[in-house]
Amino acid sequence: MDVVEKLVEYARLCWDRGLTESTGGNMSVRADDNTIYITPTFTVKHFLKVGDMVRLSLEGEKLEGKEEPSSERKMHLLIYRERADVKAIFHAHPPYVTTFAVSGEKIPINVLPEAVLLVRDIAYLPYETPGTQEFADVFIPELKKGKDVFVLQNHGVTVVGKSIEEAYARLETLEFVARVAWTLKTSGNYIKEIKKDKIKELLSLQDESSNED
Ligand code: 13P
Ligand code: ZN
Repeated sequence: MDVVEKLVEYARLCWDRGLTESTGGNMSVRADDNTIYITPTFTVKHFLKVGDMVRLSLEGEKLEGKEEPSSERKMHLLIYRERADVKAIFHAHPPYVTTFAVSGEKIPINVLPEAVLLVRDIAYLPYETPGTQEFADVFIPELKKGKDVFVLQNHGVTVVGKSIEEAYARLETLEFVARVAWTLKTSGNYIKEIKKDKIKELLSLQDESSNED
């Protein structure tokens, strides 16, 4: 399976798993140093096909594809230009993450080991009109800090990864922890965090295994 086929499978999975609604969200993958494939605009991802994908240069020139590229292409292109380590980007409107994004409250991460490992540090970005250069530009300072997860006020979330699999896992894990946290919060229950020394232990195990790779 090539990267474009894989991205289409994962984009469909996003919709099928309820990680984005209606025609919301857009996904892309780096094809090589200078080009990306991105989902077309206004598409229910359940029906997405490989032939619908649009190839763009990192400057935004359309190189292949019969469809119009996503209206969020400025954000995708800016991220790939800023961060050579990013190979895939998922922008979505998952219900619980979006609930937090509308409420303005922060999602607790140190409550589940997978969230600690995959999500770690969230950047919370102010509201900007979707599709605009201003919307793309609010990512720059947080991208430079190496953040991989961007919760977007009154909108949804963007996650990046060094592979399609990593970006997808980040998105689904974030939605899972947001669902658990919101459920506890709204039923009046206490949210218990993992102890700080255990968080440290988890992160040091992850660092050890990534050094072995
Ligand atoms: P597109 O359909 O143009 O990709 O936009 C969807 C979206 O999520 C806008 O923020
Ligand atoms: Zn959106």
